Amino acid sequence: MSILLTGGTGFIGSHTAVELIESGYDVIIADNLSNSSASVIDRIEQITGIRPVFYKIDVSDKAALQNLFAEQDIDAVIHFAGFKAVGESVEKPLEYYRNNLDTTLTLLEVMEQFDVHQFVFSSSATVYGSENPYPYTETMKKGSCSNPYGWTKSMIEQILGDAAVANSNLSVVLLRYFNPIGAHESGLIGEDPQGIPNNLMPFISQVAVGKRPKLTIFGDDYDTPDGTCRRDYLHVVDLADAHVKALEYASEHKGVEIFNIGTGTPYSVLEIVHAFEKSNSVAVPYEIGARRDGDLPEFWADAEKAKTMLGWEAKRSLEDMCRDSWNWQKKNPNGYRE
Ligand code: NAD
Ligand code: UDP
Repeated sequence: MSILLTGGTGFIGSHTAVELIESGYDVIIADNLSNSSASVIDRIEQITGIRPVFYKIDVSDKAALQNLFAEQDIDAVIHFAGFKAVGESVEKPLEYYRNNLDTTLTLLEVMEQFDVHQFVFSSSATVYGSENPYPYTETMKKGSCSNPYGWTKSMIEQILGDAAVANSNLSVVLLRYFNPIGAHESGLIGEDPQGIPNNLMPFISQVAVGKRPKLTIFGDDYDTPDGTCRRDYLHVVDLADAHVKALEYASEHKGVEIFNIGTGTPYSVLEIVHAFEKSNSVAVPYEIGARRDGDLPEFWADAEKAKTMLGWEAKRSLEDMCRDSWNWQKKNPNGYRE
């Protein structure tokens, strides 16, 4: 079976490409490299011994996408492509709505034209908004997002639901990711943020390697056990495995199904810092700073549905996540840049 990964040279897409190839799928990647490097293709080949087919195209370029579908016999699509920086989405909302919605709409149109009906989408826990109690369950009503990025995920879920009502052949799996961290254990692929990292784990890794003097923890006065925010962190390779299971599910079902992809266990910012120091025997200097706008105190997944219906659950520990993040950072202090 041939699987198209849009955004497949990115952080989650590249790890998913490896797991798919190792499960026997043929992988075709479409990415415009707006937030990733072409050398990821070499690294995937180094890990798996198989080179994925690569199209450097913008997924909202309909003619380019039609050309890809005409040349490749695609069975299913996993749609990772999109912009993902929360803060930037507040500054550039139109770019975020344009890119994230356009890529999805173009993809759906071209899939319909070429009779491809299986679609797995990278959604996010952010669609639960601030109204819902935790742990989040898939049956909860979606909430209000605090930024345009989150709204693009919520809107795309709506678009995919409507498309599946109109086209009874369509099978849509919405994966609501919690907080993916870690890297492939080879240290050949990992998260490679441009500029100052927005997310916690890349920031910690860059402090540990000496690229940044210290971490600022955004608030220690929340109503949580140690006052810092808690999140449901999961290993990116476990997340990649969830896509393999989601594809199996999509090939056997029609309509829309939503799955939380998390561990079900929250950790605080301080717990992450200390686990990283302990697992890797390195120091992570930090200071306590002001709260970051829009941060929720805590949330985590009810991960039961993915376990019972997909047969998926996270296997890797927090120690694995910290060790693999550090292994990637040490081996690639400048990411994919030489
Ligand atoms: P990433 O930025 O590493 O990967 C996204 C890829 O999409 C990049 O390689 C980028 O070049 C590509 N891309 C963007 N716009 C494109 C376009 N118009 N045409 C072709 N390629 C395009 O991000 P990631 O962390 O791997 O996230 C993958 C998906 O998962 C995204 O949709 C993201 O919103 C979603 N997600 C990520 C997280 C997270 O914490 N990383 C959490 C929840 C959901
Ligand atoms: N965080 C922090 N300092 C940083 C980056 C993040 O204290 O430099 C905190 C942030 O407030 C949140 C947690 O780490 O509580 C996870 O943040 P991230 O941006 O990685 O994920 P998200 O906010 O999307 O859950």
